[in-house]
Amino acid sequence: MFEAKNRGRNRWQVLNQNIVDQNELKKLTQEAIEEALQNNQFYLVYQPIFNTHTLKPVGAEVLLRSTHEALKKIGTQAYIEIAEASGAIRRIDSFVVNLALAQLARIRETHPNFHFSINFSAAELTTPDFAESLSHAVASAGLTSDAVEIEVTETRWAEFGRQALKNLEKLHHAGFLVALDDFGTGYNSFAQLNSSHIARLKIDRRFVAAINTESRDANMVNIILGTAQLYKMDVVAEGIETEEQLAYIQAQNCQYIQGYLLARPMEWDNLCEFLNRDKATWESTTGKWRI
Ligand code: C2E
Ligand code: MG
Ligand code: MG
Repeated sequence: MFEAKNRGRNRWQVLNQNIVDQNELKKLTQEAIEEALQNNQFYLVYQPIFNTHTLKPVGAEVLLRSTHEALKKIGTQAYIEIAEASGAIRRIDSFVVNLALAQLARIRETHPNFHFSINFSAAELTTPDFAESLSHAVASAGLTSDAVEIEVTETRWAEFGRQALKNLEKLHHAGFLVALDDFGTGYNSFAQLNSSHIARLKIDRRFVAAINTESRDANMVNIILGTAQLYKMDVVAEGIETEEQLAYIQAQNCQYIQGYLLARPMEWDNLCEFLNRDKATWESTTGKWRI
């Protein structure tokens, strides 16, 4: 066993070097994903989402993490992309959904309106029975569809065929809210937005970071907020890191915010603790929660 472990460790040392062979990296990552699935080396963290004006948490985004050394190095976004290409994403998504729903059911006992936002890959949306199996999982966990929000990234929109659009319609009719993630970075057309049953846009953090700068991205927040208003969608501004960004967003018509300033992704126990501090208020002067 130790020998196998050592062999494994040596193989991963390659990640410390400057990897030129992308195929090798991909292969190693696929192996790491399989190992992590087999050895229960995935877990979840949760990042609270707040009402922009009351600064009360309304929900949390579910984010995947791994204790596997190689996957930790590669980072969630990069290994998710590789899992999408290899097909392992189905098993990852199923792990995420089952654990997240079980934990959400416990939170809803004390916070009945709290929701979880779960990220799904575009590939998942092309599965014919996606809406049915999600509805089934939600009901089995003793939850209703208003407890779960579905996030799909806008960058993958181009891959949405008829099946994906049909699924969006089914999800909408089943009562799920669908949010378009990283909005502004993809190639969406307004016409598509109008007919897609998307109810929420998440402004990519790159545009939030550009607030009050001279860059070309600086106006994007307002363009997206205007678009959302036109199509009667609500908006989450992602990646709020500074008081200046918070103040700017609070002065706009943006309903929800998320970002390191107010809360970083946290483990389950910490989320429960965070939610139980009902009376905590945000203090701009100190940049901290006052309990
Ligand atoms: P995302 O869905 O846009 O998630 C937000 C990402 O921004 C998270 O990175 C989060 O930790 C990070 N973030 C949040 N607030 C801030 C901030 O104020 N500043 C900065 N610099 N970053 C912030 P993370 O967890 O590394 O996830 C990266 C991406 O991987 C996610 O982007 C999502 O597309 C994907 N992902 C994560 N978990 C899952 C999952 O369970 N399933 C699927 N299919 N995709 C996932
Ligand atoms: Mg997301
Ligand atoms: Mg995002």
